[in-house]
Amino acid sequence: MVKETIRVYARVKPLGRRQQAGSYSVDDEEDPLSSLEITVPRDLADGFVNNKRETYKFKFQKIFDQEAKQDVVFDSIAKPVAECVLAGYNGTIFAYGQTGSGKTFTITGGAERYSDRGIIPRTLSYVFDQLQKDSSKMYTTHVSYLEIYNECGYDLLDPRHEASRLEDLPKVTIMEDSDQNIHLKNLSLQQATNEEEALNLLFLGDTNRMIAETPMNQASSRSHCIFTIHISSKEPGSATIRRSKLHLVDLAGSERVAKTGVGGHLLTEAKYINLSLHYLEQVIIALAEKNRSHIPYRNSMMTSVLRDSLGGNCMTAMIATLSIDKRNIDESISTCRFAQRVALIKNEAVLNEEIDPRLMIVQLKKEIQDLKDELELVTGKQRTSELTQEELLQLDELIETFLKDNDPDSTLDVGADMRKIKYCFIHMKQLVNHPTNSDKKLLSQDISEEEDTNKELRGEELKKLKHLLQQRDDEINILINMLKKEKKKAQDAVSQLNATSACSSALEQSVSINLEDRQSLSSCFSLKEAKDFSSSIHRLPFLSRQTGGKMSLGCQEAFEVFKRDHADSITIEDNKQLLKQRFAEVKCLGEKLNEVRSKINRLKGEITQRHIQRAALAVSSPSEELNMFDPVEEKLRMQIEEEKKSYKTMFNRFKGLKVEIEHLQLLMEKVKMKMQKDFEVWWSEEAKNLQHEKPEMVTSPNTVTAYPRFIKSLQHLPANSFSETTRVSPNEDPDGKNNSITFSNPTLKTRIPPSSSTSIPLTGDSQADADILAFIKARQRILQKKGLENK
Ligand code: ADP
Ligand code: MG
Repeated sequence: MVKETIRVYARVKPLGRRQQAGSYSVDDEEDPLSSLEITVPRDLADGFVNNKRETYKFKFQKIFDQEAKQDVVFDSIAKPVAECVLAGYNGTIFAYGQTGSGKTFTITGGAERYSDRGIIPRTLSYVFDQLQKDSSKMYTTHVSYLEIYNECGYDLLDPRHEASRLEDLPKVTIMEDSDQNIHLKNLSLQQATNEEEALNLLFLGDTNRMIAETPMNQASSRSHCIFTIHISSKEPGSATIRRSKLHLVDLAGSERVAKTGVGGHLLTEAKYINLSLHYLEQVIIALAEKNRSHIPYRNSMMTSVLRDSLGGNCMTAMIATLSIDKRNIDESISTCRFAQRVALIKNEAVLNEEIDPRLMIVQLKKEIQDLKDELELVTGKQRTSELTQEELLQLDELIETFLKDNDPDSTLDVGADMRKIKYCFIHMKQLVNHPTNSDKKLLSQDISEEEDTNKELRGEELKKLKHLLQQRDDEINILINMLKKEKKKAQDAVSQLNATSACSSALEQSVSINLEDRQSLSSCFSLKEAKDFSSSIHRLPFLSRQTGGKMSLGCQEAFEVFKRDHADSITIEDNKQLLKQRFAEVKCLGEKLNEVRSKINRLKGEITQRHIQRAALAVSSPSEELNMFDPVEEKLRMQIEEEKKSYKTMFNRFKGLKVEIEHLQLLMEKVKMKMQKDFEVWWSEEAKNLQHEKPEMVTSPNTVTAYPRFIKSLQHLPANSFSETTRVSPNEDPDGKNNSITFSNPTLKTRIPPSSSTSIPLTGDSQADADILAFIKARQRILQKKGLENK
């Protein structure tokens, strides 16, 4: 059992260009903790923070200042926790701080550069690396990804869904068993056998998370996300399984409601979030207090889920993310205060071991067999589970003599054999319950002869006997069936065990570089794999969704322009270039690997040649010793070893590149999807503005928004425009009853003559034309705005 306090770290987000730094200083010299001092300017102290103090000092395990890189953060915070999880303990890392302070950046990572990947992808990489290195155990890994929003849980890894709203995802509920253990119903645990599969799942969850976020619900800042890696391990042949899980938690923004300045629907959400963080705080306070027996975990879903990860059996680390610009000083102080309370909690992590019942059966059977063998050795007799016919007869005789004997001191001695003792008891029981004719004679010899000769009674006895016989037969059959079943179960367990170990050894084999196996080698770097990377993205189920139909012309053109002007297009371009570079590198490496392989084969050929020559020499002049040391062969062998070494180094680099390419492609996909979402929002806003400007275009006075119609047209975007189409539901009007705006209204054409505003010819298709006009109008507005800005 390991007892230690929760480790609390702080990370300061780099300042934005227009932000003004608040006054703070970091002191790393103090041992063993670092301290952060925040100074509040007088004017702020008078206003926002209602007391006289000006400087605040907080202690942290370590403070990561603005320039700290993701790899350093991972090495200091996550690696030690991941190591504990690999050893069989539970672990939790959670990020706490106001919206925009860098929680998601720290936990998941930035969406642009490979080097910006956060704790989750780095931990996955580290964990799978370690698992691969340890061949002494058999490991199984699963991941789950839960989002909690407004006190409801949603499974982000649901592969069937093409979720466009959070509510489309499976709802996760909490169940508590009689031992007060928490179970999450409906949360899928997806198996991941390697880093690549786990990363794909992470991106599936992240994309679901992003898609589900609409302008109305900025879910990411108001929801908690918990990514969990579940590991179970077992030594071959052992019945003990170790299970551990690592929760990586991105909490909702901790900002106070008053500051967000929202109302209505959003306020309800903000309250919820604050409430659940408030409950988290209560749990933390209760845990930090000595002698508190009741910890209010049940108050919110999040505290229930993290129940065994906060105060219980867990290695826990917290990262307080701080946005130290002037305006956010008060929020940063309250984040630090929370962190100081968390630092007081002591956790007790214990190993999570349990017994596998199937393996237990196998072990017990073996033990029984060993004991039987031992007994045989001692008694000199072979012992089966059943008595022989001869032994049974002997016992019957002994029982009969015993019963007949009137001497009160007489005993029935069958020896120290449980089978015989049991048989005697059963026999006696039968005699008491169903005294048969002959037994009756035994039991009471002085019963008159007349009774024995009673024919009627005999018939009845016979019937009874037959019935008894039938009963025994049935019993025997049932027992035989049971035995057969047990035997089969035991066999299955053994064969399954064999299959598992065969499977894992096959896996190990395939992982280790087998230089002998030409086939697998050539397929290893035939560059087929490089192409596979690009298609791997389509393995994400919802990404393979086909977009049917055609996108309207206006919408398409608008999107092209939007794409060009979008800030993320630079990121996409950069990443494209990087990908190109990486592909070239992979190709080059593949070629080199091929060369090394041929070289090794050539050297091997030379050795064989050498063997043949020496054999021939031995035939022609037998005096030559065939087994004599051959320096030439030795040299060839050394060369092969060297080539193998360089092959291994190159192959490792090849694998690293593979992961990087995969990651970059997923990042690009994410950015593209984000762009598409931004476009939808922009497009719908433009449509709304247009509508306000030209109320006469609208046929119905009830019209609320043009949003649904544009979204409808977006659904027909061709596959090459985006890899994914998002549907955003018309929130204000779920039934769509009020969507009476029609751009095909003939008045539209007459009011805005196409020739005066654009050179794009109208198509004649009223819907497409309406979209074109809407787009032109929107573009004019933008140009106007730009013009104003330039002035
Ligand atoms: P949160 O999840 O706390 O709301 P984010 O992680 O989304 O905040 O961060 C907000 C913005 O700041 C993002 O654009 C993110 O890329 C950027 N950011 C946060 N932390 C860092 C950092 N340490 N280095 C560079 N950029 C950062
Ligand atoms: Mg976030």
